[in-house]
Amino acid sequence: MANYDVIIIGAGPGGYVCAIRCAQLGLKTAVVEGRETLGGTCLNVGCIPSKALLHATHSLHEAEHNFAKMGLKGKSPSVDWAQMQAYKDDVVAQNTKGIEFLFKKNKIDWLKGWGSIPAPGQVRVGDEVHEARNIVIATGSQSASIPGVEIDENRVISSTGALSLAKPPKKLVVIGAGVIGLEMGSVYARLGAQVTVVEYLDAITPGMDKDVQKTLQRILKKQGLEFILGAAVQGVTTTKTKAKVTYQLTKDGTQAVLDADLVLVATGRKPFTDGLGLDALGVKLTDRGQVATDAHWATNIAGIYAIGDAIEGPMLAHKAEDEGMALAEVLAGKAGHVNYAVIPGVIYTTPEVASVGETEQTLKDAGRAYKVGKFSYMGNARAKAVFQGEGFVKILADKDTDRILGAHIIGPAAGELIHEICVAMEFGASAEDLALTCHAHPTWSEAVREAALACGDGAIHA
Ligand code: NAD
Repeated sequence: MANYDVIIIGAGPGGYVCAIRCAQLGLKTAVVEGRETLGGTCLNVGCIPSKALLHATHSLHEAEHNFAKMGLKGKSPSVDWAQMQAYKDDVVAQNTKGIEFLFKKNKIDWLKGWGSIPAPGQVRVGDEVHEARNIVIATGSQSASIPGVEIDENRVISSTGALSLAKPPKKLVVIGAGVIGLEMGSVYARLGAQVTVVEYLDAITPGMDKDVQKTLQRILKKQGLEFILGAAVQGVTTTKTKAKVTYQLTKDGTQAVLDADLVLVATGRKPFTDGLGLDALGVKLTDRGQVATDAHWATNIAGIYAIGDAIEGPMLAHKAEDEGMALAEVLAGKAGHVNYAVIPGVIYTTPEVASVGETEQTLKDAGRAYKVGKFSYMGNARAKAVFQGEGFVKILADKDTDRILGAHIIGPAAGELIHEICVAMEFGASAEDLALTCHAHPTWSEAVREAALACGDGAIHA
């Protein structure tokens, strides 16, 4: 008789959500977690603390740049870095304690320590071996560096280090213009650092809509971030207080060097499966080191499953959560499902960027006929009121059926607005369905409706 129906290794958004749903469905559940607190990378050193720093520094930016315009005069606030860190740590603590409370409420055992799988059906934590009918690998990911660049969390930092610096840098070089690079680059630019982002590709935010890429780059440039695109970083050398970043331009092979106080490596993440014993078990990995799974998150070894950043797909907390919930349903004998075509992505810069579904590029590559409905926030009264009239909403719909295929938003609260489109897509809605839905005035959401109208007979305020 097994001790548990399910043991989940890792208490990040994938693991803890899977555990709660397993418990709700009547399965005896335990979670192995070696960190001092629950919540994984996202809650402890990722999504949540970065949002606190983004909020604090956005507020500072508003005070410095927009308050006087609104008739709010007086000295801009000065930065108490220790207090800003304490605020961030408090936000994290409230959330990690919240998960602990949910574990107690749902009678989920937290097996404290780092887990390994000595044999199918067994999980070792410290000296104890627990038995389980099902084991779920939800161990997430870790920062990945590039050749010639060693993360020492001193001069050369990962996103984790970037959240807890002793003090903000004066000169920051960010390697990689992806989500982490732009979010943390924004934080330190707002705190007065000179920020240079070096990106290998010719555009920022790889894979995003091209209009969004250009607009975001233009807006961030105005906010003080510098970009060097088409540049491969080849190495970083450090002294006690400084760093030098060498890069090569892809267009002509010229090399150049940048000086910095700090270098943030934001070149992607890789699955974290060290110490689980997967090799000895014969668990199959993909050639990118992800745990290989089938459509129901089962590995090639019976009774062992995997979800989240450890498997293929976008490395996003909400993708892991959805997989966690769906896998719990499968383990409880129900039909769990994740619609990978409707997983939104959000960048929490100002303005926010959000996207879901197809881009024009993926539709062109697939040879699909589509139409574009685009609406600029210049025509949205509410956006202009908050100095964010520069972005747009772009909806892509099937040329013949009008069914919504994707959407790309850059503008105020884009990360909230995108969900209207996600719901529409889940229901197979047409652009006209959105266009015929009454939207309150004055709201940012009206820009979504206007973009939907632009897929048909035209937007009103364009
Ligand atoms: P990323 O994959 O988003 O971006 C990495 C960038 O580094 C790419 O643009 C790549 O071209 C560039 N790069 C790689 N090698 C380079 C080199 N030698 N020189 C210059 N540039 C180079 O990775 P990330 O920003 O590190 O984020 C990691 C993961 O975490 C991503 O999957 C991301 O989705 C996730 N994340 C998501 C959020 C969010 O949803 N808001 C926030 C943070 C992180």
